[in-house]
Amino acid sequence: MNKLDAQRQKEIQQAEELLFAGPQALGFAKGLFQGHFVADWVMPYPGIPVAQQGELDGTLKELRQFLDEHLDAAEIDRKADIPRSVIDGLGRVGVLGMTAPKEYGGRGFSQMANCKILEEIGRRCASTSVFVNAHHSIGIRALLLFGTHEQNQRWLPKLSMGEQLGAFALTEKEAGSDAANVQMQARPSEDGSHFVLNGEKRYITNAAIADVLTVMARTPVPGSDKTSITAFLVTPDMPGFEMLEARMPKMGIRGTATGRFALRDVKVPKENILGPPGKGLKVALTVLDFGRTTFGACCTGAAKTCLRLAIEHANTRKQFNKTLGNFHLVQKKIARIAADAYAMEAMTTITASLIDRGLEDYMLETAMLKVFTTERLWECINDVFQIYGGSAYFVDCPLERMMRDARINQIGEGANEVLTSFVALVGMRGPGMEFKEIYDTMMKPTRERGFAKAWTAGKHRLGAAVRVPEIPVRSAEMRWFANQLGRLIWRFNVAVNRALITYREPILDMQLVQERIANAAMDLFASTCVLSRHDAELQVAQRNGSSSSPDKFAADLFLRQSFRRIRHFLAGLTDNEDKSVLATANSVLNKPGS
Ligand SMILES: Cc1cc2nc3c(=O)[nH]c(=O)nc-3n(C[C@H](O)[C@H](O)[C@H](O)COP(=O)(O)OP(=O)(O)OC[C@H]3O[C@@H](n4cnc5c(N)ncnc54)[C@H](O)[C@@H]3O)c2cc1C
Repeated sequence: MNKLDAQRQKEIQQAEELLFAGPQALGFAKGLFQGHFVADWVMPYPGIPVAQQGELDGTLKELRQFLDEHLDAAEIDRKADIPRSVIDGLGRVGVLGMTAPKEYGGRGFSQMANCKILEEIGRRCASTSVFVNAHHSIGIRALLLFGTHEQNQRWLPKLSMGEQLGAFALTEKEAGSDAANVQMQARPSEDGSHFVLNGEKRYITNAAIADVLTVMARTPVPGSDKTSITAFLVTPDMPGFEMLEARMPKMGIRGTATGRFALRDVKVPKENILGPPGKGLKVALTVLDFGRTTFGACCTGAAKTCLRLAIEHANTRKQFNKTLGNFHLVQKKIARIAADAYAMEAMTTITASLIDRGLEDYMLETAMLKVFTTERLWECINDVFQIYGGSAYFVDCPLERMMRDARINQIGEGANEVLTSFVALVGMRGPGMEFKEIYDTMMKPTRERGFAKAWTAGKHRLGAAVRVPEIPVRSAEMRWFANQLGRLIWRFNVAVNRALITYREPILDMQLVQERIANAAMDLFASTCVLSRHDAELQVAQRNGSSSSPDKFAADLFLRQSFRRIRHFLAGLTDNEDKSVLATANSVLNKPGS
């Protein structure tokens, strides 16, 4: 085995240990890759339980009133600061501890209800929504998920009320997308009472305003020369904590304080370890699952603002003696924003419900949600920007700020390219393992137990290959869409199988193939969420004696456009210019200075 192969095997083994440890129920997205439609996770469309709806409505009312009176997104951007009065107000409304248990000072909201809160903030100010995400979705998440009762009792009450603020510190110079490459060191003291942390972190939201930071550092694995990552709670009053840059000047979300800090021989008590020692990467990835879900909610809110702004302008601005809304090329943009905003909300709600309902593994769905909603929001902003013409370009219009703010979404909490590749590879692992089983047994037919396993795997693969999954919609109006979706899932499964058989292990490096597979999977998930949501809305409309639901057109358009995209992605697997793309890239990459 050469050095590269050995490195690859090591990476595969690490990923296997990290991502696939323990038995897991088949989630919705993983099911798609196997040709299944695991209806229970997505249908019927989830709703907030009646008992919680009243509390959510009350909180939303209070939040809206507070934001109307006190949140000035343009000023936050201009001054590059979120006033303390706004932070305190958010704390009073409960936003900073929305999902923390009531016994620790939180509001005990579900993830779904929390997403409605974040959507409301995302509609108005991206700086504020990113600040809330950094504190609540990721900053205190490791504590919420992995904290012991003692740790929760000690830290959570002040953090939940916003008296103290949290941050999540993973990124370093050498550990950006490659999160496993954390270099910050945590050396245990001889008496085992504490760890000594050394290293630097950068690009950390809230770093300079946080009272408690969840910091990822590398610890030795006892009894070996290896190291692994562990999560620590660090406070800035610990001797050796040095803020290198409190607010790095930046393009967008300027109200957030993005900082760099160093830890120099900082003694952190062993009681501040969060989760199992050495399992910090798993802790970090789980935390980010939550961040990606609320990312979806914030993007949904911003997309709804795009829609409102587009409608306002298209109905008032006249050119050629007509309001802009009369032109089909303007209508096309507005229709797409409406369809995408509808889908983003549906996808966010279903993903959040997976967390609330206790699905063990939702990493594929959260990654899909993050990529899909951030890409769609970017398109929405670009479209509404175009509708506003020259006026969008000036700073008295919110669109230039919204555009600057939205650009981070495709990079933060996992760059979209990395997550796209992740979706394809994690999704294909299930069918890939079955093929491996079949292949290995064919090579060694004498292994009896192996043969039985291979036979089961083969039957499984074959079963999915001949069966179009049933999509259980209740409204007759949705039957045609459900049938189309079922056929596309079947075609997707055939395409995944063919790609695995054709490329085998080298597919691990074939990102152009992975991208098409991931994009198709994301649109299948998005379509499912829209179908589920609209089916439920039609049922309600029927019960209320109305012939149609208000969002009929947006849902219909989204499904048609999404189906077309899926067919396009699948066709691209065999009809493409990948060789030419790679040859061109390599020719320029290997010609420095040109
Ligand atoms: C405003 C802001 C706030 C942030 N807040 C936080 C925070 O609170 N906590 C925290 O820990 N971090 C935070 N980050 C860091 C953020 O998560 C990282 O910037 C992000 O993970 C990408 O890492 P990087 O910037 O080092 O880019 P790199 O890893 O250098 O990647 C650059 C680009 O290379 C491409 N790329 C990289 N790897 C691959 C691959 N495998 N396949 C294909 N393409 C690839 C992608 O296009 C990517 O955008 C923040 C960043 C910013 C800008």
